[in-house]
Amino acid sequence: MTTQFVYSFSEGSKELKDLLGGKGANLAEMMRIGIPVPPGFTITTEACKEFLALGVAPLELEIQITKALRELEDEMQKRLGDKKDPLLVSVRSGAKFSMPGMMETILNVGLNDESVQGLIKQTKNPRFAWDAYRRLIQMYGKTVLGIEGQKFANELDKAKKDQGVVDDHQLSVESLSKLVETFKNIVFQESGKNFPQDPREQMDQSMRAVFNSWNTDRAKLYRRRERIADDLGTAVNIGTMVFGNMGEDSGTGVCFTRDPATGELGAYGDYLQNAQGEDVVSGIRNTLSLEDLGRLHPDVFSELRGIMYNLETHYRDLCDIEFTIERGKLWILQTRVGKRTASAAFRIAMQLVDEHIITMDEALVRVNGGQLAQLMFPQFDMRNAPKAITKGMAASPGAAVGKAVFDSETATTWAENGERVILLRRETNPDDLGGMIAAVGILTSRGGKTSHAAVVARGMGKVAVCGAEELEVNENEKFAKVGSLRINEGDYISIDGSTGEVFNVEIPVEPSTIVRYLTDGIADASEGKEDGTRELIRSVDRLLRHADRRRKLRVRANADTDLDAAVARKFGAEGIGLCRTEHMFLGERRVLIERVILAKNNEHREEALAALLPLQREDFFNIFKEMDGHTTTIRLLDPPLHEFLPNLADLKVKSALARERNQVIEADERLLYEVEKMYESNPMLGLRGVRLGLVSPGLYELQVRAIAEAMADRIASGANPKVEIMIPLVGSHMELKITRLAAEEVIQEVARERKIELPIEIGTMIELPRAALTANRIGLVADFFSFGTNDLTQTTWGFSRDDVEAEFFAKYLELGVFTISPFETIDQSGVGELLIIATERGKSVNPNLHFGVCGEHGGDPESIHFFHKVGLDYVSCSPFRVPIARLEAGRAAVS
Ligand code: PEP
Ligand code: MG
Repeated sequence: MTTQFVYSFSEGSKELKDLLGGKGANLAEMMRIGIPVPPGFTITTEACKEFLALGVAPLELEIQITKALRELEDEMQKRLGDKKDPLLVSVRSGAKFSMPGMMETILNVGLNDESVQGLIKQTKNPRFAWDAYRRLIQMYGKTVLGIEGQKFANELDKAKKDQGVVDDHQLSVESLSKLVETFKNIVFQESGKNFPQDPREQMDQSMRAVFNSWNTDRAKLYRRRERIADDLGTAVNIGTMVFGNMGEDSGTGVCFTRDPATGELGAYGDYLQNAQGEDVVSGIRNTLSLEDLGRLHPDVFSELRGIMYNLETHYRDLCDIEFTIERGKLWILQTRVGKRTASAAFRIAMQLVDEHIITMDEALVRVNGGQLAQLMFPQFDMRNAPKAITKGMAASPGAAVGKAVFDSETATTWAENGERVILLRRETNPDDLGGMIAAVGILTSRGGKTSHAAVVARGMGKVAVCGAEELEVNENEKFAKVGSLRINEGDYISIDGSTGEVFNVEIPVEPSTIVRYLTDGIADASEGKEDGTRELIRSVDRLLRHADRRRKLRVRANADTDLDAAVARKFGAEGIGLCRTEHMFLGERRVLIERVILAKNNEHREEALAALLPLQREDFFNIFKEMDGHTTTIRLLDPPLHEFLPNLADLKVKSALARERNQVIEADERLLYEVEKMYESNPMLGLRGVRLGLVSPGLYELQVRAIAEAMADRIASGANPKVEIMIPLVGSHMELKITRLAAEEVIQEVARERKIELPIEIGTMIELPRAALTANRIGLVADFFSFGTNDLTQTTWGFSRDDVEAEFFAKYLELGVFTISPFETIDQSGVGELLIIATERGKSVNPNLHFGVCGEHGGDPESIHFFHKVGLDYVSCSPFRVPIARLEAGRAAVS
């Protein structure tokens, strides 16, 4: 059986997006439900794939196209490019996902020197016919032959100037027919070939150009960034032309069934009288509103309203529609589920539920954690804000305001003096790191979402706008320009990392109302707010609560202090999945740990440890208080001890100076000796985690005692503490077994002293490949596994997580080695596989084991869906990400 490469619009449906592309599937769907769509056919993505693989169109394709074209001609009772009464068609690309970089539409295919005369006779409108012909040559020249568009645009401008008019539609028949000749000459000069007079050749070449545009650099880059598979291919839609440029009773427009910014139901859109296709979006002339269209053509407008209503009910979502009116007759050229802002997404989802169009589960799938995150960042108060001066890629979300600086050193010095600065660069490289850390935001004129600036900014949680191409940055002379507008060093600029907008003024930043809702509740957050904001808060609340009802994954927080714990609880955390204890030894307590490390004998060491005990106990007591009734997982000390000691280089300098002055201080020398002794080439692979616990007498015991005593104190005061102790960096079950026995001894000792029971679970982090692979042994001595996906990623890939993001990840992303940093989204096929192995092997020996994740991935939407699938019990993430994790865990459960 031969493959069907061509589908009439009357054959497909919206379910066939893989084969017909988004546009083709939706055209077929509209045809199916009786919406007036100009007839035509779709050439499938399969045809594109074969064409790209073979380099030529498959033979059956040509034949199937002929057949489909004949049927179309019969239906329309016209022949393509007929010299008396030509059928004209449009050729449009249409992949499964809409994608920038794909070939633009070509209209009026079928016109040539003869058929233009036929069109004149049929329409009695020579101006229209010549205009249509010059557009075809222009579009064909630019998109199929790759001739620089400006060459045509310049001639068009010249024609208008010569004739003394401003708008394209004012050009006379003479000007337009002359322009056709000029355009044909451009085609010949630039491509060495005549503009093809054969209508079928025009159509076939346009189709091939669409296929080839699947592999433009821009399309490839976009796919990589959005993680769209490279082998989907694009469909091509060939549709009968309808004309919006046939006079005042014709026109073309775009509309939305709801306001894409707020979700309000209505008719939103733009209309352009006497215009064709791309004129509306290109902003050549000022458009009219749909209300104006209602006044101009009440009947057509009411038909359009009816169609909008039908489409919205049919698609059960906001639709975005392109239409054309040809001499008073309405045609729908395209529809799709419309893009919307984060706030509109939540509002629309709940509006549709309340209108009984979708269920709560469906509403949950219509929003996502990325959108919720956007709503949780501070935003610009745009009430009195001017228009943006330019726009780049929204590379790292949030709103930042500061003074413009053009180099890293200035950024650092100004920031040290208390200034807020925005670092402006053409692009950044690792040398700019200091400046990036000092700045509140980063703006570049080159590079996209995976450029160095974008990757590093996201890693640091800094606002960034990248690739604002209109911005000319002169780093040497320290100024930037957008057209004639100049930004000097020290001028205020505001950048919106959620929209990519850049402003040359200081715009006030507002805290997020959604964060206010999460911390203070609906009533407080809604007070004094306008209706739209109140609706947004209610919508987020309803969807989050629904997610909570549905999700299987529990959500805990990574919190190291009672303050963090309090925030986490407000954001809905059901416990602490990771309490890192290292910060408890920093600041003023550093000297105490220094004393432990430098202790000359056991006695000194025990004294030093004893001094730490009450402090640690108090830390834990306060955290247990905040988390009363919810589990707190405390991880024993992990980082190498020298992180608590002074820097080696500093000590060396100090010692050298002291020697020179003959003022050697014995304590300093001892410190230097110890620090030198502890020096490691690869500290991340050195004496840390459980290894440290095993070789540093008394250290883990101190921590366990502090935990047990704090728990006992809480129980004594009538509270309900739930505590787990977690051992880091275990690679062998023996490490865990020895550590566990020692910990249990301490716990029992405290229990005996206090005469109470202390039911503390002891588990391990799984953050080394060996731990994952030997989980069937480790599982025998653990009560739980918590996947430390940061270290597990680091050790599985052999990537130093502190270095690689800045060093070469931008290049790796550009090369397509991966599409997103594996430190951001779990690498399912590598690290994820270890996670599955560990879970299975662990369960096989210990059915009571429970499983969680406490690496950064615990708060990443895509990773959460993976953890849900693997069947983990909980994820743990930073408090700010807890609501996002709740939402995504709910979505994973209903998806
Ligand atoms: C991890 O490795 O994933 C983890 C949570 O521990 P840390 O980031 O503290 O090494
Ligand atoms: Mg770790």
